[in-house]
Amino acid sequence: MKSIAIFGSTGSIGINTLAVIKLHPSRYRVETLVAHSQIDVLWAQIAEFSPRKVGVADPQSAAVLRARIKSEISDKTRHPEVVDDPVALAALAADHAVDCVVAAIVGVAGLASTWAAVRAGKQVLLANKESLVAAGQLMMSAAIASGAMILPIDSEHNAIFQCLPTGIPAPQAVQKLILTASGGPFRTLPLDQFDGITPQDACRHPNWVMGRKISVDSATMMNKGLEVIEAAWLFAMPPTRIDVVVHPESVIHSMVQFVDGSVLAQLGRPDMRTPIAHALAWPERIDSGVAPLDLCAVTGLHFEAPDLQRFPCLRLAFDAIEQGGIAPLVINAANEIAVAAFLDHRLRFKQIPHVIEATLDAALAGTGTVAPESIEEVLVKDAWARQRAQSILVGIAAQTLTKVPTMEHRA
Ligand code: NAD
Ligand code: MG
Repeated sequence: MKSIAIFGSTGSIGINTLAVIKLHPSRYRVETLVAHSQIDVLWAQIAEFSPRKVGVADPQSAAVLRARIKSEISDKTRHPEVVDDPVALAALAADHAVDCVVAAIVGVAGLASTWAAVRAGKQVLLANKESLVAAGQLMMSAAIASGAMILPIDSEHNAIFQCLPTGIPAPQAVQKLILTASGGPFRTLPLDQFDGITPQDACRHPNWVMGRKISVDSATMMNKGLEVIEAAWLFAMPPTRIDVVVHPESVIHSMVQFVDGSVLAQLGRPDMRTPIAHALAWPERIDSGVAPLDLCAVTGLHFEAPDLQRFPCLRLAFDAIEQGGIAPLVINAANEIAVAAFLDHRLRFKQIPHVIEATLDAALAGTGTVAPESIEEVLVKDAWARQRAQSILVGIAAQTLTKVPTMEHRA
């Protein structure tokens, strides 16, 4: 019986992970659930999976949950321990009772727990790509030192992992990793209509159902930039040997090109339960609950090069990869700030790359590009970049005289 801790259990990945676990009650036990503040969803998960420990990052929500447990679960021996202190919360990932940590918090908010899990030598099922973007070097070195096994559940990286004969790291036989990208909801939208893009438009992904932040990242293609950085660390591959190809059907989840000209691809429905089930059971295979891919229903497989003019965030990510050092960390932090402002109607979709570019320029003009040497330094640089992005954002938004569009305005 594998004991599982899910960080980000109320999100899209967390919910999909629990759906797979539910199919295999004799294989997996949910030891720990962690979320930010969605108490109703968390409450239902507690009732169904009876975790021994629950982490709630928002202290007010933690208080609400404690009161509800006290009043609604009469048997005190069944009360889960509720943790809200940030240090204790991250330490839940290193708990001796946990075998496997699902890192599914969104953003750098997931860094501390992912770091704790890696340092404790856990099996880490990684969705939280931002922690590798911000601290890839430190994370991979710590995994080697502790013996932690990082298994990717990001669909592209999981696909590559499945195509590599020996998993991580990539052998000499590999010429290139090829990450596929759907191109998101605006792949063909006329550029003169980008001004009117609302958060609702950006979150309406053509193929995948995901959390709001990653949905916007897919619409700007920043997600693919972050994924190139993630792949470089996970598979010890220079970014120059990682290609991005737009594949609108999202049937091929990524590919590996070998030196002999062979290309191996992993295919499947666009459903995160497949990579989650693969990583949960690895090296075995289990039912994920996903229907088989119907090849005869696939009307075509198309591929095109990404348009860097349409998707300036992807270009910025490539620039940051080339700069190295703190640049990936800075674009990630600035992106989190800009996307949150866009989702909150404080910034236009088209202005997201402006915030990221100006923050990156400020960072490169300032402290230089040296990579952080500790997680504490990562957090300091991340906080600096967030603050800088925030003030740049205020300046950019103030220059915009017309109000940022909402659904109401468009209607
Ligand atoms: P989501 O917004 O649906 O869920 C985020 C989860 O993180 C929620 O449970 C929330 O409560 C929790 N959370 C947020 N801030 C927190 C904090 N400060 N402390 C503790 N918990 C916090 O996001 P998602 O779509 O599930 O994405 C999660 C991660 O997985 C992201 O890094 C994303 O890039 C990655 N990912 C997601 C998908 C997908 O299909 N959704 C695919 C690949 C990778
Ligand atoms: Mg992905």
